Amino acid sequence: MHIGIDLDNTILDATSAHLHYYNIASGLSFTPDDVNDFYIYRLYGWDEAERNVIYNKYGHDIHWNSSPLPMAVEILQQLFNQHQISIITARPLLFREVTIKWLQHHKINYHNITLIENKLQECMNSKIDVLIDDGPHYAEEFALVNKPVILYEQPYNLAVTNDFVLRASNWIEVKEHIDHLASKLTLN
Ligand SMILES: [Mg+2]
Repeated sequence: MHIGIDLDNTILDATSAHLHYYNIASGLSFTPDDVNDFYIYRLYGWDEAERNVIYNKYGHDIHWNSSPLPMAVEILQQLFNQHQISIITARPLLFREVTIKWLQHHKINYHNITLIENKLQECMNSKIDVLIDDGPHYAEEFALVNKPVILYEQPYNLAVTNDFVLRASNWIEVKEHIDHLASKLTLN
């Protein structure tokens, strides 16, 4: 199978890293329990332009200092041995180098990496069978065209329900969904 995989809050804990640096920038002290919005910067009352200034300043450190989620590295290694793995992240190209170094540092193998906002278009072009992502908007967009998404559970995506959206609250469950999808593809 060709599997597309998001980075932030799917492979790694982006929430903690963002809060750490956004707290430094703002003097506020939010914790992961406060996060109920995919767009963490809105917690701080920033608009997109204000967020971009902060993100351009701290983005490198945010991305370098993010930790992999439990079992993500081990299961990605298993998936890499059996499937085609494309990392698909909406991070801007500015952070391509730190992203690739981070993946190397954590010994995460993959076949391709694409930094792009339009993930649906990318998944169509690259003939990706399933996307693993935490973004509620991606899950809804993919479900509209009957493309399966494994939605990595985060507080801000609990409201998404659809037959094409498979929920996973950890990487063990992600692997179970992948194994099931792969066995269905073999049968067809
Ligand atoms: Mg994400």
